[in-house]
Amino acid sequence: MRPSLLDPLFAPASALPGIGPKNAKLFDRLLDKPGGARVVDVLFHLPYAALDRRARPKIHDAVPGTIVTIEATVTEHHEPGLRSRAPFKVLVEDETGDVELVFFLANHEWVRSRLPVGAKRWISGKLELWDGRRQIVHPDRVMSAEELARLPSVEPIYGLTEGLYQRTVARATEAALKRLPKLPEWIAAEGLARLNLPGFAEALGRMHRPQKPEDLDPAGPAMTRLAFDELIANQLALLLMRARMRVIPGRAHAAEGALGRRLEAALPFSLTRAQRQAIDEIRADLRAEKRMIRLLQGDVGSGKTVVALLAMAEVVEAGRQAAMMAPTEVLARQHYERMAPLTDKVGLRIGLMTGRDKPAERRDSLAALAGGAIDIAVGTHALFQESVAFADLGLAVVDEQHRFGVRQRLALTSKGESVDLLVMTATPIPRSLVLAYFGDMDVSALREKPPGRRPVETRVMPIERLDEVVDAMRRALRAGARAYWICPLVEESEALDVAAAEERAEALRSVFGDAVGLVHGRMAGADKDASMEKFQRGETKILVATTVVEVGVDVPEATIMIVEHAERFGLAQLHQLRGRVGRGGERSSCLLLYKAPLGEAARARLETLRATEDGFRIAEEDLRLRGEGDVLGLRQAGAPGFRFARLDVHAGLLGEAREEARAALARDERLRGEESRGHRLLLHLFERDEAAKLLEAG
Ligand code: ADP
Ligand code: MG
Repeated sequence: MRPSLLDPLFAPASALPGIGPKNAKLFDRLLDKPGGARVVDVLFHLPYAALDRRARPKIHDAVPGTIVTIEATVTEHHEPGLRSRAPFKVLVEDETGDVELVFFLANHEWVRSRLPVGAKRWISGKLELWDGRRQIVHPDRVMSAEELARLPSVEPIYGLTEGLYQRTVARATEAALKRLPKLPEWIAAEGLARLNLPGFAEALGRMHRPQKPEDLDPAGPAMTRLAFDELIANQLALLLMRARMRVIPGRAHAAEGALGRRLEAALPFSLTRAQRQAIDEIRADLRAEKRMIRLLQGDVGSGKTVVALLAMAEVVEAGRQAAMMAPTEVLARQHYERMAPLTDKVGLRIGLMTGRDKPAERRDSLAALAGGAIDIAVGTHALFQESVAFADLGLAVVDEQHRFGVRQRLALTSKGESVDLLVMTATPIPRSLVLAYFGDMDVSALREKPPGRRPVETRVMPIERLDEVVDAMRRALRAGARAYWICPLVEESEALDVAAAEERAEALRSVFGDAVGLVHGRMAGADKDASMEKFQRGETKILVATTVVEVGVDVPEATIMIVEHAERFGLAQLHQLRGRVGRGGERSSCLLLYKAPLGEAARARLETLRATEDGFRIAEEDLRLRGEGDVLGLRQAGAPGFRFARLDVHAGLLGEAREEARAALARDERLRGEESRGHRLLLHLFERDEAAKLLEAG
């Protein structure tokens, strides 16, 4: 339960002065809290910039292009006629020069009353030169001396939503600051001094009441403090989760690799060195008494599946079961179909279970799993629903982990007494992100690809050259090629001007007839499979698809990848898409079609992709360009989102945060004692509620 000390922060935001029922709705929208924003959400809504109104020059010395606050006397009004569209101009001066204030579509009455001729006023705004004249167009402020005294000289600027004003938000954050209860310091004095950090409340205060624009600097002390706290909360949560997973000691799986050797002999290829090393690492874990929690990373096509199969065989040899969970039906089926011929050869019993099984099939599968008649179960999350029981599950493999949330991961390992966990991801994740998102899992990496792959020739082209593309496609198809054609969205959206997959398929059919297939996320499962299978068998030659083919689908005969609106995809996503080709021995190509004009970031992405195929390099570049795990698809996956921490800026704090969290739990593993009060509050403050619950559970 949340400590009552934090209650004022978790009260509805509408409890704050100035947030009435109408504004409350706007705040809900602004803070992305459809269920109702709370005081803490307002408090954590930090300004993204600060306007520096400290410059108080004489008019003559005011620098054009900067924000100035000047004291001047009103000397002339140039009021346009009622029907004129000319602006209302007001001339003001001090002893050094004059400035023209310009109001378009002004409320004349307001201008007259705020700036009567002869009055002295403080005026703040951006000074510009126009035709050699000094101007301020729509001054931000027109103030009396008393009003000036009340204005912060450095003004925080907040993100807004339509209908909300800076002033309203500033007032709300100010009120929220006042409700912040006095919290104990959770960081040791030594750490505070070494990292030169302010306290939590002070850091929030500096952000909302900046004294200089640099106070908002992401790498500055205030932001660093907040990011650090968030990272500590996150590391605490991950460590608690991990401790929970390790409460039950692991079981040693007594195997000698005999089954694995037979499987290997049945493979049409020999393992790469990287695969061999990964399987050795996994075997060592499996045979040891500890519980395995291991991440297997490897670029698309690096051959993770066979490593998983060998790992599963190990557990089966030891007399237990293994399960492999894929994120989609298509993938689960594909894994099953590829593994079945191999497992058949060595007498392993494999079964498939998806959400689409008929009731009778499902009944049979459930009985087989519970009775131990299936050694290896492949499926979707349907495998881990409550009704599913295993006879003795020893190992769970999760493919494309980042699509599953933490909860599903827990569900999965709860299916057996002490299930070992192997998580596979095709997105090479930089070390700093592994730590942030997964905690300290052990990591095996497949950096080397199976032999015989040719580099994929990547070209970037404007969509205007579509005709050429179609011509080239005609030649390629005649030569027997197969191609993917990726479109970003399913249906034409007026607002977005997206080339819809359906329309593209239609257009291509008018050229290539029945050779064109279509698969997209909104199709019924069976139709999707049918469409994929046709392409796999070569009955269709061009598969128009939305990103459903992104993950893991393997058609080695496909050699062409065309991506429309490539500028809309993230780097990692494009990399994944490209990985669909270049899987057989044939020469492959990837064509990235963009719609001009290209933004800076999009250009950089496409250029990176053209320049390299190294997934680890691309991941690093991704991190650099976008700053966070978003593009890696981590955020939408229910991985913890960070409010303050930016991994491009704060990744260096991760190790430190982990130490802090580890030390706290080493001192007091349930954070029950008085000395842990701060850390407990911290967990709740950052709403790592699942983790906080683990502290209470028996
Ligand atoms: P991913 O890591 O993307 O899951 P897969 O496991 O699907 O990759 O493997 C991609 C392709 O490479 C498959 O067709 C697989 O049979 C093949 N493959 C895997 N390992 C090797 C190897 N050592 N030598 C040759 N081909 C391999
Ligand atoms: Mg795979």
